[in-house]
Amino acid sequence: MMKPCLTHPQPDENGYFGNYGGSFIPPRLESIMKEIDTAYREIRGDPAFLEELGGLFKHYVGRPSPVFHAGNLSREFGGAIYLKREDLNHTGAHKINHCLGEALLAKKMGKKKLIAETGAGQHGVALPTAAALVRLECDIYMGEVDMCKEHPNVVRMRILGARVIPVGQGRKTLKEAVDAAFEGYLKDPVNQMYCIGSVVGPHPFPMMVRDFQSIIGLEAREQFEELTGRLPDHVVACVGGGSNAMGIFTAFLDDSGVVLHGVEPAGRNLEIPGEHAATLSKGSPGIMHGFKSYMLQDEEGEPGKVYSVASGLDYPSVGPQHGYLHDLGRVRYHAINDKAAIEAFFHLSRREGIIPAIESAHAVAHAMKMAREGETGSILVNLSGRGDKDIDFVVENYGAQYGIQDLS
Ligand SMILES: *Cc1c(COP(=O)(O)O)cnc(C)c1O
Repeated sequence: MMKPCLTHPQPDENGYFGNYGGSFIPPRLESIMKEIDTAYREIRGDPAFLEELGGLFKHYVGRPSPVFHAGNLSREFGGAIYLKREDLNHTGAHKINHCLGEALLAKKMGKKKLIAETGAGQHGVALPTAAALVRLECDIYMGEVDMCKEHPNVVRMRILGARVIPVGQGRKTLKEAVDAAFEGYLKDPVNQMYCIGSVVGPHPFPMMVRDFQSIIGLEAREQFEELTGRLPDHVVACVGGGSNAMGIFTAFLDDSGVVLHGVEPAGRNLEIPGEHAATLSKGSPGIMHGFKSYMLQDEEGEPGKVYSVASGLDYPSVGPQHGYLHDLGRVRYHAINDKAAIEAFFHLSRREGIIPAIESAHAVAHAMKMAREGETGSILVNLSGRGDKDIDFVVENYGAQYGIQDLS
C-alpha cells in the first residue's frame, strides 16, 4: 500500500507561497483557522493517521488508480500519451481524495458537521460520501438554479444523507452558495468544519487540499517509471481551482527535466472578459474568498464573470501555489476552448473507450495538441474524472455534430 506523504516544504507558516495565499478573513475566524492549522500539522506526521487515510485510499477509493498508455491516440498523433486514471476512483473523480482527508481531520477535531457549497454538485457528492463513511452530518449549500440543472446530483446527496440547502438569493448559483455556506459556517464554527473543494480559500486549506491530493503524483511518478523506465517529459492537468493539477504536479516539482502544464478553460472566447475562466492567462493579482492569488476582476476589482463549458473549471481565481509557480515559470499555463475540449471528449471516448469529464477533456485536448504539433516525448495526462455526469448535456448540445441523432 502506498502511504500518503503529507509533508512538503511550502507554504510558509502564514500560508504564503511567495506573494500569494495567506488568510484574509473576519477576526472571529482567525482563531478557528489557527486551530485547524495546528490540528492538521499534528496529524499530518502521525503514522496512525497516514495508515488510516492510506487504508481508505486503497480499500475504499480503489487506489492506486492505474496509469494507462493511450496507444490509439499515441499512434494517431505521434508521441506517447499516458493517462492517470482518477476517473476510476469511487465517486468518479479526484475530489474524494481530499474529502476523505478533510472528513477524517474534522472527526479527529471533534467536529459534528461538515459543510460546503457546490456548483455542479461534484464536490457536493464527494463530501457527503466521506461524511457518511466517517459518520458526520453534512450540509450542502446549492443555488436553486444549479439544483434544477444538476438534479441527479441533488438526489445523490440526499440519498447519502446530506441536507441540501437551497440558496435563492441573487443569481442563485455558485457565488451565492459560497456566501450562504460561509454565513452558515459563521453561525457555529466550533462544531462545523467548512470543507473547501479545491486548493483555494484561506490558509491552511490550499496546503491541506494539496497534501491530500498529492497521492496522485506520488503514485503516478512511480507507476510511470515502472512502465517506461524513466520519468515523463511532460505532465498535463486541467486547472479550475487547481487541486487535481497540484495533486499530480507536486511529486514532479523537483524534477527539472519534467515540464509541467496547467490547462485553463478558454471558454467561448479568450479575448472577451466573461467568456472564459483563464485566470492565470488573463487575470491579475487580487484578493477574494479569503486568499490572495491571480483573479479575473471587473473594473471595480470585484470577481469578474466567468464562463466555461466545464462547470468545474469556471472559477474567477486559482489556488495561490499556482500563482507562485506561474511567476516562477515552473509550470506553463495554457488555455483550451470549449470546442477543442468537446472534440477531445469524443476523441478519447471513441479511440480509447474512455468517456472523460469535460473538465479533464481540457487536459486531453492540450496533450492532443502537443502531439499533433510534433511533440515526440512522453505526455502524462491527469484524467481527473469520468464523464457520466456530462453525457446528457453533451449529447443535447453537441450530439448532432458528432453523428448522434436526437434520442427522444
Ligand atoms: C472539480 C473538478 C475539476 C476542477 O477542480 P480542480 O480543483 O482544478 O482540480 C476538474 N476535474 C474534475 C473531474 C472535477 O470534478
